[in-house]
Amino acid sequence: MKSGWAEHDAQALVAQCAKSGIDRELALRVYTTRLLGRDRSLVLHGGGNTSLKTRMRDRFGEEVEILRIKASGADMAAIEAEGFPAVRLAPMRKLRGLEAIADLDLVAIERANLIDPAARNPSVEIMLHAFLPHKFIDHTHARAVLSVIDQPDGEQKCADAFRGRLAFVPYLMPGFGLAKKAIEIYERIKPSDGLILSKHGIVTFGESAREAYERMIEMVTLAEDFIERNGKSVAIARRGSDVAPVAAVAPIVRGACSVKDDVTEGAWRRLVLEFRTGDAVLDFLDRTDLGRVSQAGVATPDHTIRTKNWPLLLPHPEAGKLDDFARAARETAGKFAARHHDYFERHNRRVGGDRRELDPLPRVALVPGLGMFGLGRTKHDAAIAADIAEEWMAVVDGAERIGRFESISEAEMFDCEYWPLEQAKLGLTKERPLAGQIVAITGAAGAIGAATAKAFATAGAEVALLDVDLAAAADKAKAVSATALALRCDVTDAASVEAAFDEIAASFGGVDIVVSNAGAAWQGRIGEVEEATLRQSFELNFYGHQRVAQAAVRIMQAQGTGGCLLFNVSKQAVNPGPNFGPYGVPKAALLALMRQYALDYGADGIRANAVNADRIRSGLLTQEMIASRAKARGLSEKDYMSGNLLGREVTAGDVAQAFLHQALALKTTADVTTVDGGNIAAAMR
Ligand SMILES: [Zn+2]
Repeated sequence: MKSGWAEHDAQALVAQCAKSGIDRELALRVYTTRLLGRDRSLVLHGGGNTSLKTRMRDRFGEEVEILRIKASGADMAAIEAEGFPAVRLAPMRKLRGLEAIADLDLVAIERANLIDPAARNPSVEIMLHAFLPHKFIDHTHARAVLSVIDQPDGEQKCADAFRGRLAFVPYLMPGFGLAKKAIEIYERIKPSDGLILSKHGIVTFGESAREAYERMIEMVTLAEDFIERNGKSVAIARRGSDVAPVAAVAPIVRGACSVKDDVTEGAWRRLVLEFRTGDAVLDFLDRTDLGRVSQAGVATPDHTIRTKNWPLLLPHPEAGKLDDFARAARETAGKFAARHHDYFERHNRRVGGDRRELDPLPRVALVPGLGMFGLGRTKHDAAIAADIAEEWMAVVDGAERIGRFESISEAEMFDCEYWPLEQAKLGLTKERPLAGQIVAITGAAGAIGAATAKAFATAGAEVALLDVDLAAAADKAKAVSATALALRCDVTDAASVEAAFDEIAASFGGVDIVVSNAGAAWQGRIGEVEEATLRQSFELNFYGHQRVAQAAVRIMQAQGTGGCLLFNVSKQAVNPGPNFGPYGVPKAALLALMRQYALDYGADGIRANAVNADRIRSGLLTQEMIASRAKARGLSEKDYMSGNLLGREVTAGDVAQAFLHQALALKTTADVTTVDGGNIAAAMR
C-alpha cells in the first residue's frame, strides 16, 4: 500500500483552514483522516476513527487539554474540522479509575464534557483514544490487517507479520472495557507503532498527523507482504454458464427475503436489493469451501449491524429451472430467519432479556454462479451492505490464503448487533410508510408522472421513472431522490416494456407498485374517425397499460408478496366529451382492464385501482389549450381551471396524492378515485 501523503495538498489544506481560524494540527488531522477514508481497503461507511490531543480555550477563556475525535458515524473521506468534536481530556482520563460504566452513562459524561454542547456525539471508540497518551491516533479496519488477525493463531501471526512493532490486544467489544485493556497492554509492552485489536482492527499513533498516518500505511503494507509471502492458492470449482439472468433471479431472492407484517394483514416487510458481481465475487462464490467460509462470521464487529452475522447462501440458479431455485430460496431464507430468531432468544436470555428483536431478514445473499446481493430497507442501505460484503469476501479470501478465517464468537456478535446504544436508536426515527417498496411510474417525465414520483419517494419508496424521453426522465429523477432510476420505455413496444422492467428488477430487486400513467389524447368524431387513429390511441391508452401491467405482474408473482397496479384512467372513461371518442373509448376499456386485474389477481394479493382525474395542467392540457378553451367559453383561465363543484383547480400533485392513497390502502382493490374538484356527470356512483 502506497502512502497518499502529498506535501502540496497538505499545505494547501493548512492554508485553506487557516482562513477559517483552524490551526495547522487540526488541518493536518483532517487531511490524513481524508487520506485514510478515501481507501475502501482501510475503512468503509463510517468505520474507523482518528483523533488529536491539543489545547484550547474554553468558553471561560481558560486553556484546557482536549481530545478532538471523529464524530460517531462521520465519513472519514469527506470529513471537515467540525467532524472532530472537542471533549475535555482530563475527565475522560479520570474514568480509567472506574471498574465499569454503562454505555449510556458514558455517552452522558462525554456530552457533558463537550466544549461545544451542540457538537455531534464523539466516536464510540473515544475512550481508547483518550487513554492512550499519543497526540495523533489513527484506527482502521484495514483489509490486509484483518486477514492476518482474524485467525485462530492471530497473536502469533501478528507478531510475525508486524515484527513486534504492534502490541496485541485480545478481543473485547468496542467501548470502555476494550479501552482499559488496551491502555494496560500499551503501558506494559510500550510498542513503537501501535496496537492490534484482535478480530477488530489496527491502531497506529504518532507525534504528528503524518507520522501516525505513515505508520498505518507501513503496517498495512507489512500485512499485505505477509499474505503475499505466505499465501497459498484456493480451490475453486467453476460453474457452468447456464445461470439464469439477474433480472429473473432478483425478484425470487427479494420475495424469499420478505416477511409478512404480523400486525397489518396484507402488509409485508420488504427489502431493496443491490446486485454486485465480477471476477472477485464469482471466484469467492466458486470456492469449494464456500459452505464453511460463508458462515464463519463478520470480518470486524461493527459490520454486524450492516450485514448481520452471516449471509444467506443460496443455490446456483440454473436457467430454465427457476422453480427449483425459488423453492430452495424460500426454504433457505426461512431457515435463516428461524436461526436468527433462535440466536436472538438464546442471547437475549443471556444478557437479561431486555433487548428488542430486529427483523430476521438477511442483509447479504450469495448466489453462486451469478453474484451477490446487498439487502436493505433503502437502496442506500442495500449498497452499504453490498460494499461491506465485498470487503468481507476480500478479508476472508486473504485470511484463508495464510491460514483459516476465524471471526468473533456468536455471543460477541450478538453483543454488537444488540448493543444498548444501537437499540436506543430504535423507534427514534419513524419509518416512512413505503420504506422497502419499489415503484415504477410510466410517463414519468410528464406533470402527473413527475409529481407522483416525488410523492412516492417522499413516502419512502425507491422510484423508477419510465418515459419515452430518457433525458426528460433523468432530469425529473434528479429532483426526486439520489437513488431514483430513469429508464427509457416506450409502452407501445412490448420489448421496450420488458427490457425496462428487467432493468428495474436488476437494479432494485423487483417491483411492488406500478403507476401506469403514460398516455396521449386523440380527437375526432367517432363515426368519421380514421381507424388508424383509433388503433393508435388503443396502442398507447389501452395496450400500453396492459403491457406494463403484464410485465409488473410477472415480477410480482416471482416475489410472491402481492403488489399494486395503479392506472391513470381519466374521467373520459365514464363521462365522455364530444369528439373525444378516440381518447375516451380506450380509456373506458382501461377501466375494464383495471377491474379484470383486480378480479384475476386478488387471490395473489395484487390490487388494481384507478384514478379518474380531470383538467390538470399537463402535456395533455397545455397552456395554449387552456387559453383557447377559456376564451371560447368566455371565462378567465382561472375560472376555466376551477370550473367544478368545489371551484378549485386540480393539480398534478392532487393526482399524485390519490395514487399514494390507493397504494397505502391495503384493503382496497378495483377502486376508482375521482380527482376532479367535483363533476357530478363523472361521479362513479
Ligand atoms: Zn473499530
